[in-house]
Amino acid sequence: MIDWRAIDTVLLDMDGTLLDLHFDSHFWLEHLPRRYVELHRLDDSTQHEIRARIIREQGTLNWYSLAYWSRELGIDVVALKREVQHLIGLRSDALDFLQWLKRSHPRVVLATNADRESLALKLPLTGLEDYLDAIVSSADVGTPKEAPEFWFALQEVERFDPQRTLFIDDNPAVLESAREYGIRYLLGIKQPDSQRPERELEEFIALDHFASILPGEHPPV
Ligand SMILES: [Mg+2]
Repeated sequence: MIDWRAIDTVLLDMDGTLLDLHFDSHFWLEHLPRRYVELHRLDDSTQHEIRARIIREQGTLNWYSLAYWSRELGIDVVALKREVQHLIGLRSDALDFLQWLKRSHPRVVLATNADRESLALKLPLTGLEDYLDAIVSSADVGTPKEAPEFWFALQEVERFDPQRTLFIDDNPAVLESAREYGIRYLLGIKQPDSQRPERELEEFIALDHFASILPGEHPPV
């Protein structure tokens, strides 16, 4: 499916691609609303308001900013994340894939919408850094991956040839923005959240296992 000789750079999303999105889904939709009403001594029924408020910011830099939410909600979001940090973990065969990439030479760059506070929490718990040549957060470049400007900004800090680049991301809106920029090889993820059903993507091939794109000597498990 992938001719690895035609790839110089692999851009990888973090949440839902390398890491199980279950942590984030659980945190934003269950844990945070519950703890918010507890900490502010609000009626339990107001949880849905906080969920709606969170979802309204989807796809913006605010949505991905822990500092924004701490300020907006008057709570320490990082401390609340630590309460459920045992749910942070790699997806199925992500580690095998990263190990293979490390042995196989392409430049491997994390291209994430997670902000630096999220990265500071997740990187030490997952060991991802050992396998990455560079980490670019959309918070650093000032625009989320959903926006076309992100790819131009990424190109400034991390040179890559779009025709020789593979980008893997679980978010179809982000894949679309990468396609418009001209990145040639694009793949989605079939099951970003281990606790939710698999889904197909309309416009992109969605990976079941990373093993399915590795050369023959690494057959799918
Ligand atoms: Mg993602």
